Amino acid sequence: MTDVSLFSNEQIAALLAALPDPAFILTRSGKYAALFGGTDARYYHDGSALVGKSIPDVLNGEKAAWFIAQIAIALAKTGLHVIEYQLNRKDVKGLDADGPEDTIWFEGRVQALEYRVQGEDAVLWVASNITASKKLEALLRMQSETDALTGLANRRKLMQALTDNYELFARYQTPASVLIFDIDKFKNINDTYGHLSGDKAIQATADVCRRELRTTDFPARLGGDEFVILMPHTGWEQAKPIAERLRQKVPAALRTLGTLGDGATISGGLSELLPGDSSFEDVLKRADDALYRAKRDGRNRIVHLEA
Ligand code: GH3
Ligand code: MG
Repeated sequence: MTDVSLFSNEQIAALLAALPDPAFILTRSGKYAALFGGTDARYYHDGSALVGKSIPDVLNGEKAAWFIAQIAIALAKTGLHVIEYQLNRKDVKGLDADGPEDTIWFEGRVQALEYRVQGEDAVLWVASNITASKKLEALLRMQSETDALTGLANRRKLMQALTDNYELFARYQTPASVLIFDIDKFKNINDTYGHLSGDKAIQATADVCRRELRTTDFPARLGGDEFVILMPHTGWEQAKPIAERLRQKVPAALRTLGTLGDGATISGGLSELLPGDSSFEDVLKRADDALYRAKRDGRNRIVHLEA
């Protein structure tokens, strides 16, 4: 550690003032006892007006209570307390809650001080603006879970949703059904009208899924012309008419694209989670077997398999 006696008080004050991230001294009761730094004008407003105020003077109820709770946690710890939080207009008193929604994300690093300030225990709270990386993180997560061609959930996201639904079923017997369907003779569309027209057909199919399903249903594109609809809280008897509706509506949508839709049909395999299933793979496998049967039996049909 640097020998601080080499610096004058003025120099130390200047050093603290030069810190890019704001460093607050907050007391246990939530008083802003001091503020150092925060010079990075890209990220921080001048916070000097906070000094002398209390957290509940500045932040609304729930947020203020959360800040004060974090101070208590940091004071009970020996090490650093690291937290992420967001602040938006409705959290800050005196700002118009209906104004534009510009949430700012912070990482707070909170350290108990070894001495008391204004007669109270106190912490050093350094707030770093992490909004840019949070936004990037959200974008990357969205992209990693989305099928680029259709905007539906991709296989990875579907597997997560299936896992969640399997766990609900195993614990609470909450039913869920799975439909796998694909376009019959899709290769002919690609071969006759070109790959781009094939892509349009796939997009139109995804649009039907978005339009026709309940918001709780979960459509995903597995790849190629293959789609999966996970229907939470739905036994196969209720799922069957939904599947049949898609069997009508997808070809109708493809026909609106022109001659490529002439005679278009889909085939589907349907199954629901069953008590003997040891993972979601079992229901997926049954639905896939059912789809295989639908193809074998002449296509343009939904087949349901119970075991
Ligand atoms: P079936 O009735 O048995 O389903 O016959 P099918 O011709 O539809 O056969 P299959 O489902 O095996 O063919 C899927 C085709 O989808 C094969 C592949 O060339 C094509 N394909 C896969 N991904 C894409 C894509 O992103 N865009 C387009 N246009 N075609 C794709
Ligand atoms: Mg196909």
